[in-house]
Parts: sequence; C-alpha cells; structure tokens
Amino acid sequence: MDTKSQATPMFYGHPVFSCSQCAAVIALQDELISKAFSGRDGRGYLMHSAVNVKMGKREDRPLLTGVHTVADVYCMGCNDRLGWYYHKASDQSQKYKEGKYLLEREKLVKENAWKLDE
Ligand SMILES: [Zn+2]
Repeated sequence: MDTKSQATPMFYGHPVFSCSQCAAVIALQDELISKAFSGRDGRGYLMHSAVNVKMGKREDRPLLTGVHTVADVYCMGCNDRLGWYYHKASDQSQKYKEGKYLLEREKLVKENAWKLDE
C-alpha cells in the first residue's frame, strides 16, 4: 500500500517512467496520483515521489489553481527540466499537492517491467 515505507525501494521489475533524454529512471508508475494535470507546455502527471532529480530555486508561481510555491525539477542525468515540485499551495483546496511532483508527460517515457530470459 504505502510504497515509500518499504525498506528497499526496488525499481527492478516495476513499471517506471524514465527521462526521455537520458533514460534515467524518474518515477515508479505506482507513484502516479493523477494524469489530469497541466504542465507548462502540455499534459502533466502528479506523482507522489521522484528519483534521480534535483530541485531548482523555490519561487511563487501563479498557476491555474492559484499561487503555489514551487521549485523546478531537473533530471540528474541530463539536466533537462522535467516539471516542478510543490512546496506550498496558497489555496486550501490545493493543499493535497504539497510535497508532490508535477512531471511533464512529454519529458517522460513509460517503460514496462523488464523481462528476463531464464
Ligand atoms: Zn535525463
């Protein structure tokens, strides 16, 4: 149920989203909250967590749903901007986004679990 509490978060054998530029693993598909979000240039995914990313400077940004304190998120592998992280939402109804990642769909590649030949 709560994937973050697992002692060894293994990507191996799990479907993941990878960076479209350098193929670094960015997030488990299990961590997806919603696909019905808007990124800067298109569709965005709201995710519980992301890996192999680094954050830019925090800033207040007016979004469709009000002002949010966000930080851009970059791929550790290739420095491409992948989306942003929600530090804070000003509107009560948007608080559920705090601590979550918004990743641009076009920056991600969906990969299914690897299959090994025995
Ligand atoms: Zn990358």
